[in-house]
Amino acid sequence: MAKRNRGKTISYLPSNGRGTCPLCERTGIKLLYPHKTETNQTIKVCKNCRHK
Ligand SMILES: [Zn+2]
Repeated sequence: MAKRNRGKTISYLPSNGRGTCPLCERTGIKLLYPHKTETNQTIKVCKNCRHK
């Protein structure tokens, strides 16, 4: 389970997992990490936001 997000981009995701992070709003960044929001939704965030 460790390091599973490293290496190749995730080809089964749209744009190889890249997009705009909903938290820091960087564009073209890989959204690899699931994050629970306050409304109990799970969103994908970038590595910079994974621990927030
Ligand atoms: Zn982010």
